[in-house]
Amino acid sequence: MRTYILFTPGPLTTSETVKQTMLQDWCTWDDDYNLEIVQNVRSELVRLATDCPGDYTSVLLQGSGTYSVEGALTCSVPDSGKLLILSNGAYGNRMAEIARYGKICHHIISFPETSPVCPDTVDRFLSRHNEITHVSFVHCETTTGILNPLDELCRVINKHGKTLIVDAISSFGGIPFDAGLLNIDFLIGSSNKCIQGVPGFGYVIARRDAMETCRGNARSLSLDIYAQWETMEKKCGKWRFTSPTHVVRAFRQALKELHEEGGIMARHTRYEANHRLLTEGMTHLGYKPLLPAGRRSPIIASFLYPDPPFCFESFYSELKQKGFIIYPGKISQADTFRIGTIGDINVRDIKALIDAIGSIRT
Ligand SMILES: *Cc1c(COP(=O)(O)O)cnc(C)c1O
Repeated sequence: MRTYILFTPGPLTTSETVKQTMLQDWCTWDDDYNLEIVQNVRSELVRLATDCPGDYTSVLLQGSGTYSVEGALTCSVPDSGKLLILSNGAYGNRMAEIARYGKICHHIISFPETSPVCPDTVDRFLSRHNEITHVSFVHCETTTGILNPLDELCRVINKHGKTLIVDAISSFGGIPFDAGLLNIDFLIGSSNKCIQGVPGFGYVIARRDAMETCRGNARSLSLDIYAQWETMEKKCGKWRFTSPTHVVRAFRQALKELHEEGGIMARHTRYEANHRLLTEGMTHLGYKPLLPAGRRSPIIASFLYPDPPFCFESFYSELKQKGFIIYPGKISQADTFRIGTIGDINVRDIKALIDAIGSIRT
């Protein structure tokens, strides 16, 4: 059935069994859907996020991951608050764009796209800026594949007593961490990344007390995560507006398959093996990774264009003809392309991709 394999950071390659669950229609009103599927997905997400699930809750929201980032930012920061955004790529910058649209009082600290967000800089800034109430950043910046220092950043932000918002959309399910231990207030994910579902909704896993503070803050009706959460809580999994039933059902199956694989740790090991083989194979073929070894995530890798003449468009279409889809680059400072190592793919698929790339004359 597969026409080609996606080596992309979402949508990504999903299993046949995840796809098959979408062949049945579901009623948004019926208990079979809300009680059995939605409530189950919500509690499973909380369990995946932390070993102390009692303090946490979750809400699902229609749309791609950005909608949930926008929901979390525009509902958590009140008019009287001030948000600090830490950015080293396109998704951090998108948070600033969301803040501008939502007229959220904010400040952005920008780091180079190839450098991690620096905890010391954040520490110094927060010491001088008491007016900041909330801090947000991206865990794995998919722009380059760089991994930001989650533990250190959370520690600094907690030390200053700020509400902590983490975009873990490209890492949640693929990189182990405990949101409770890190005291993350709002953790954002989406259906089509490391849980290996299909696109259609995002989710916010939040400390229950932090979620309670969102009441009345929303700047938009459909992105009001508090109202959505309240409805899901009071009406046992009901969504306010039409929910993406097939997508949620597929996600439920994807969660089951994550569990069968051995959980987040086992998935992380598979992604690491994919990433290692990819980087070794590409380096062997003469391609140079954009980032130094210590900064790379097992999610997606960026490679510099080789010496000219290299045409990305023809490279891409030759690979597509052979059944492999890769991803263009997204940074401004260098010409790059990206290869994702997440999804229902393993080292055999990576090996086949490397062989295909080796057979192309650039
Ligand atoms: C995919 C992704 C998002 C969401 O992007 P969409 O285009 O809305 O799916 C947000 N942040 C990060 C880090 C991502 O990788």
